[in-house]
Amino acid sequence: MPQTADVVVIGGGLHGCSTALHLVLRGLRVVVVEKDHAGRHASGVNAGGVRQLARHPAEIPLSIASMELWERIEDLVGDDCGFSSHGTVLVAESEAELAGFRARVDDLRLQGYTHEEPIDRAELRRLVPAVADHCPGGVVSRRDGAADPFRTTQAFRRRAVEKGAEVIEGTTVTGLARHGAVWRVTTSAGVIEAPKVVNAAGAWADRIAAALGEPVPLEVFAPMLMVTSPLPAFIDPVVILRSRKLSFKQRDNGTVVIGGGHRATPHRDENRTVIDWRALATSARTVWELFPVMRAATIVRAWAGIEARMPDDLPVVGPSATSEGVYHQFGFSGHGFQLGPATGAAMAELIVTGATNIPLEALGIRRFQRAARQS
Ligand SMILES: Cc1cc2nc3c(=O)[nH]c(=O)nc-3n(C[C@H](O)[C@H](O)[C@H](O)COP(=O)(O)OP(=O)(O)OC[C@H]3O[C@@H](n4cnc5c(N)ncnc54)[C@H](O)[C@@H]3O)c2cc1C
Repeated sequence: MPQTADVVVIGGGLHGCSTALHLVLRGLRVVVVEKDHAGRHASGVNAGGVRQLARHPAEIPLSIASMELWERIEDLVGDDCGFSSHGTVLVAESEAELAGFRARVDDLRLQGYTHEEPIDRAELRRLVPAVADHCPGGVVSRRDGAADPFRTTQAFRRRAVEKGAEVIEGTTVTGLARHGAVWRVTTSAGVIEAPKVVNAAGAWADRIAAALGEPVPLEVFAPMLMVTSPLPAFIDPVVILRSRKLSFKQRDNGTVVIGGGHRATPHRDENRTVIDWRALATSARTVWELFPVMRAATIVRAWAGIEARMPDDLPVVGPSATSEGVYHQFGFSGHGFQLGPATGAAMAELIVTGATNIPLEALGIRRFQRAARQS
């Protein structure tokens, strides 16, 4: 293991690997320390949704910047990551829900964002022919798509290593201490000294932040997914619902990945989750009702991933409030896969130049200190 680096990145998920890649592209010596293996957790097992649709305004600039990188992902990492763009459709189940969706699109337009587009009943049926008759319309984000999550994380890791990063797997960061101008990063395999450290430790990142004297209200949660046997092709876009917890997409091999927010029980110290089969049955029933074509499908597998959720569903991205040279990049709250490429680029820019053009203020860790003072 190297004894020094310009930057130590804690965590080899998509975020850690993306930041490592963008840092080595800027000429820095980078070591990623990963306690398991790159992509072992949320980054490798997620639904692969590359979605700008239905995001909080505070993360839309990051999401738009990421979309631009997704659209040339092969140039960036030497692999197309299985990315394809067929849009995401948010389906309304009633006129009242559709009116609410339209109001949001109008509001986004006033803020200068045009990626969300309301669609009527006819356009919904053109995009999603198999949808149930009672759905009156929805919203589409046409540039959205999906990619293969494990392949993507591996591609970022591989390209970062090709460009000079070291990725040390099976090694846990156990402590951080300031020694003059550098951080002494203690790991289970020895000490590395570096002036800069990135906390990209996913669902374990609160422990790093707490060790720096900035506790955060991170909730460890475990979204579940299931996949069906192959069906004849019936849908191109990713479909999401708000009234009921559902998202799904059909892959090129005909299988349908179904998710949407029902949770398993996470045990983060054991790298383990316990599936809630009853909740999965609710998702299956929703699909059964909304997409009659899927009534012939068989569920072949279910799984969950351990993920960090913040109370406002927004990630923590930016410098530490207590510790100079430390940067946080965690808390992606179930929708951080799409944000991976640009968050790494913004973080590298911030570390190297001290600033980034992507507005990150609303994502800073100080918001929790302010909230704690007010309560
Ligand atoms: C089932 C599921 C479905 C999802 N679907 C989508 C989707 O469709 N679209 C979307 O945009 N997002 C989705 N997400 C969210 C997305 O997967 C995550 O937001 C994203 O992958 C987070 O990446 P990360 O690098 O921050 O975290 P992780 O991938 O969890 O990586 C953090 C890494 O840090 C390591 N680590 C932790 N502590 C230490 C330590 N002390 N020392 C060394 N290493 C350490 C961990 O082992 C881990 O590998 C989904 C998540 C899940 C679980």
